[in-house]
Amino acid sequence: MNGHTVTVVGGGLAGITSALDCARAGAGVTLLESRGRLGGAAYSFTRHGIHADNGQHVFLRCCTAYRALLEELEATASVAMQPRLDIVVLGPGGRRSRLRRSGLPAPLHLAGALASYRFLSLRERVTMARAMLSLRNVDPDDGATDQRSFGSWLREHGQRTPNLEAAWNLISRPTLNLELDDASLAQAAQVFRLGLLQESSAGDIGYARVPLSDIHDAAARNALIEAGVDVQLRRAASKITLAGSGFQVECSGAPSLRCDAVILAVPPDRAAQLLPAQAGLDARRFTELGTSPIVNLHVVYDRRVLDVPFAGGVHTPVQYLFDRTQSARLADGQYVAVSLSAADEELPATIESLRNRYLEALAELLPAARNATVKTFFVTREHAATFRASPGARSFRPAPRTSLPGLVLAGAWTDTGWPATMEGAVRSGHSAAEEVLSALRRAATRTESSSDPTLPPVGEVQLAGERT
Ligand SMILES: Cc1cc2nc3c(=O)[nH]c(=O)nc-3n(C[C@H](O)[C@H](O)[C@H](O)COP(=O)(O)OP(=O)(O)OC[C@H]3O[C@@H](n4cnc5c(N)ncnc54)[C@H](O)[C@@H]3O)c2cc1C
Repeated sequence: MNGHTVTVVGGGLAGITSALDCARAGAGVTLLESRGRLGGAAYSFTRHGIHADNGQHVFLRCCTAYRALLEELEATASVAMQPRLDIVVLGPGGRRSRLRRSGLPAPLHLAGALASYRFLSLRERVTMARAMLSLRNVDPDDGATDQRSFGSWLREHGQRTPNLEAAWNLISRPTLNLELDDASLAQAAQVFRLGLLQESSAGDIGYARVPLSDIHDAAARNALIEAGVDVQLRRAASKITLAGSGFQVECSGAPSLRCDAVILAVPPDRAAQLLPAQAGLDARRFTELGTSPIVNLHVVYDRRVLDVPFAGGVHTPVQYLFDRTQSARLADGQYVAVSLSAADEELPATIESLRNRYLEALAELLPAARNATVKTFFVTREHAATFRASPGARSFRPAPRTSLPGLVLAGAWTDTGWPATMEGAVRSGHSAAEEVLSALRRAATRTESSSDPTLPPVGEVQLAGERT
C-alpha cells in the first residue's frame, strides 16, 4: 500500500482501529477527530478532582476484537478480567444473590448459578432455564427474527413475572440499552447466544482499571503515532467530494486533504451529512436507526459501602453499580458509579430528583450506605449513547461498502451483527480497513497490469460496477 493515502474521519474505536490497520498495511494515514481527544463515546474526564468515565464500560471475554485492540495498545494491564463470570445481584433490604458460572461446558456452566439464584422461585428458575435453551435455537441472522421484539418472545416462552423480567433485564438492558419490549429478538439472541449459551468462558466480564481515556486516548494516540498515523485533533471534516483519482476532505479551519481513500467512522447523523451523493446510499435511513440514552450517577461516599467490584440490582431503580475508587485515583472514601441504561426517564430528570431517588435506592441495597455521608454527587448524561437495536433495526445498518470503492463506512452502528458496543466498533474498523485496502490493491493492480491509461481511478463512480 506504499504511496497510497487514506483519511480516517472520526477518532472513536472504529476510526482508531481502521487507521492502525491501514497504516500497518503501509498506507499513509491521516486521522481527523473533531474533539480534542480520541476515544469517541468511551472517554473520561476530571470533575471535583475525580477521574470519571462518561459511562461505565464493560466487555466480555467473547469480545475478541476489542481485547486484541487492547493488546495492540499495550493496555491489557489496564483492564481487569474476571476468571469466571460472577455477578453479585442486590435487592432492597440488603438481599443479595450471586450468578457465578462453573467450569462445566455451556450451557451447563450456568446451571448451578440459576439453581441457587435467590431472586427467582424454583418454578421461575425452571421456566427461565427452558427459555434460555429455546433461545439457543433462535437464528439472529433470520430477518423475521429481527422484526420481532424480545419482550414478546419472552412472554410467549412463559417469562411473565416481574422476577423473570428483572432477571432477563440484568443482561439484556445493559447490552442492548433498551427495555425488553423495545429490543430486537435477533439482537438479543446474538447477545445471549454468544455471551452465555455457546461457550462457557464467553461471558466473563472485563472492565478498565484506569480512566477510559488512558486507554482510548493516550495509549491509542501513542500506538497510532508509532504506526506513522498523522493524528489531527480538533479537526472536523465538513465535506467529502470526489477529486480526480481520489477524494477531497474539507476540514473546518484547515486546508483540505487530498487522498486515495476515506473511512468515515463517525456517528450515523454525521455520516448522513458527509456522504457524497455518489456513494449511492440513502443516508436518511441511517438516522432512522434512532438513539438510546445512558445516564451515569457518580457518588462519592466518605466510607466503603460496596464490598464487591460491581453488582447488579433487581427490584430497584439501580441497574448496575461499580466501585470506581481505584480508577478515579481517590484517596479517601469510596466512589460508586451507578449505570442506568435505556435511561429515557432519567435523561430529563433534575440532579436533585436523581439524587433523592437514587441515594435512597442505594441505601436500600447497601446497608453501609445508610450511615455514610455523600461527599460528591454528579450526573453524566449521554443522550445518544447508542443506536436503538429495535425490531427491524438491522435493515437501517449499512455495510461498510458504498458505491465508491475508496469510500467506506465504519462505526458500531454499521451492520456488524453486534449491538452498539466497543467490540462492534472495533470489528467495524477492521472491516472498513479491509474494504479500503482491497479497493486500493485492486486499483493498483489494474494500473500496473494495464497499458490502458483510461482505466478508471480509485475514487470514481464507474468502479462501482466492478464489485458486482
Ligand atoms: C455512556 C455509555 C456507556 C457505554 N457502555 C458500553 C459498555 O459497557 N460496553 C460496550 O462495549 N460499549 C458501551 N458503550 C458503547 C460504546 O462506547 C460505543 O459503541 C463505541 O465506543 C462507539 O465507537 P465508534 O468508533 O463506532 O463511534 P464514536 O465513539 O461515536 O466515534 C465517532 C467519532 O467521530 C468523531 N466525529 C464526529 N463527526 C466528526 C467530523 N465531522 N470530523 C471528525 N471527527 C468527527 C466524534 O467526535 C467521535 O470521536 C457505551 C456508550 C456510552 C455513551
